[in-house]
Amino acid sequence: MSRFDILIVGAGSSGAAIAARASENPNLSVCLVEAGPDYPDLARTPFDLINSHNNSYNDHDWKFRYEPTEGRSVIFPRGRVVGGSSAVNTTIALRGVPEDYDEWASAGNPEWTWEKVLPAFRRLERDLDFGDDPWHGDAGPISIRRYPREELTTPQAAFLDASDRLGYPHCADANEPWGFGAGPHPMNKLGRLRISCAVGYLAPARIRPNLTIKAHSHVSRLVIDSSRCTGVEILDESGKTERIEARLVVCSAGALQTPTLLMRSGIGERSQLEHHGIRCVRELVGVGKNLSDHPALSVACRGKEGLKVDHDAPIIQTILRYTAPGSDKRNDLQIEQISFAGKPGGPPMFAIAAVLEYQYGRGELLLSSADPLAAPIVRNRFCEDERDLTRLVGCMQDTLRFAATSPLKGMTESIAFPDPARGTDTATLASLCRKLSASGYHPSGTAKMGPKEDAMAVVDQYGRCHGVDGLVVADASIMPSVPRANTNLTCIMIGEKVGEWLRTRPTQYGL
Ligand SMILES: Cc1cc2nc3c(=O)[nH]c(=O)nc-3n(C[C@H](O)[C@H](O)[C@H](O)COP(=O)(O)OP(=O)(O)OC[C@H]3O[C@@H](n4cnc5c(N)ncnc54)[C@H](O)[C@@H]3O)c2cc1C
Repeated sequence: MSRFDILIVGAGSSGAAIAARASENPNLSVCLVEAGPDYPDLARTPFDLINSHNNSYNDHDWKFRYEPTEGRSVIFPRGRVVGGSSAVNTTIALRGVPEDYDEWASAGNPEWTWEKVLPAFRRLERDLDFGDDPWHGDAGPISIRRYPREELTTPQAAFLDASDRLGYPHCADANEPWGFGAGPHPMNKLGRLRISCAVGYLAPARIRPNLTIKAHSHVSRLVIDSSRCTGVEILDESGKTERIEARLVVCSAGALQTPTLLMRSGIGERSQLEHHGIRCVRELVGVGKNLSDHPALSVACRGKEGLKVDHDAPIIQTILRYTAPGSDKRNDLQIEQISFAGKPGGPPMFAIAAVLEYQYGRGELLLSSADPLAAPIVRNRFCEDERDLTRLVGCMQDTLRFAATSPLKGMTESIAFPDPARGTDTATLASLCRKLSASGYHPSGTAKMGPKEDAMAVVDQYGRCHGVDGLVVADASIMPSVPRANTNLTCIMIGEKVGEWLRTRPTQYGL
């Protein structure tokens, strides 16, 4: 049986950053355990992981689904590979607004104010356009760049021109802390190459003798003796079980798998665990609750005959960040141009997505069974909160205005969705949002951090589990609420902070 100082479950955005930072301390032995495969160099990396022009949905995915409030269940992609979801995603590299992190801090987590997270955001990036600005970094593992005008696809350039006509301001750097308006997306890609956390963090770190990367190893449960986590049990591809001991276990399996693993290991709501025959070792009712995400709905446009739509082009390049009328949550809405829609070889189509960035409503995640390989039940509960519904409907109306404004208007033969024959009045759009608004793939908050007086908090602000020693959670699960931005950079920032604490103050974690 092997024994490590730190064992990290999940080599995703947070887990990879933690492994890289913690293993910079040569006195700590670190083991990074990942259910999916590992591709140690680019020559052996499959194309779907390299190709940042589109998401990878199939070959490295967990095949999860979620249940919407109305309608049928929908796929919920999550990366299953070293690099995690950062290895399959769209490479949008956007930070939340400062108020997001200040809101986390005011919920009893003073280590997470904007002022205190900014150094980690700077440390993780190498911003190739604005690296000299005081809020940017120019030497981190994740290269970030924006497409210049001449590299935009026709629909993307048309989106920015339509935005000008509609009177939205231009924003050259969407990561400028107080910025808003339309402009190029900051993206963590170089040409077609996705700069995932496997590429940015693990490629240079994997040479270290104190870092072990163990792929094809599904953690089936955490081993907890009395109230201390002492290691994990893993299931390899042949179904063989192995136990690995560690002085500290860090759970970075993502916002869907982390709460699932905690519950299977006896940490969660007692009644739910007992329903599945699992002995409750520590009752923490917040596990699986507080699911926070970005509901979205798109306007799909049929292009005029002759419009060139390339399904191999970058799917997203531009963004509008703006605030709903009357809202006190700055930049609570996003509109994004999608370069292509429909099927390759079919009639030319593109789309424009309306996305709710500040969500009041919350969903939940439940255990479906004690089987370590079973998917969880995910209920997003999108648009059940009137404030969410009203703003997403407003955002859809603004998005329809884009489609009706030149030059996008001149490229559009007709609107395929929402069907104009059924009307686009507020009530019709509200019904569509309730039924069809879909996840932005940013689940967060399912093991939130907070002081132990907060009954829903699962971990403290350093990620240490309330009531279980030797166990830390650090990934999208610990966010008290989803930030007003795509979540990859924030997950890496969480990894940077926890990794630095492990490296520089191991005694704080009992090491
Ligand atoms: C298709 C898609 C597109 C996206 N696009 C963007 C985007 O453009 N920009 C953006 O900012 N965000 C995007 N996101 C979201 C972003 O990538 C995630 O929020 C972020 O990567 C989550 O980081 P994490 O560390 O919490 O989890 P993950 O990165 O998902 O990592 C969890 C890791 O744990 C492993 N794991 C899980 N369970 C176990 C187990 N039991 N045993 C062993 N290993 C386990 C998983 O295989 C995975 O590698 C996208 C997500 C997806 C899926």
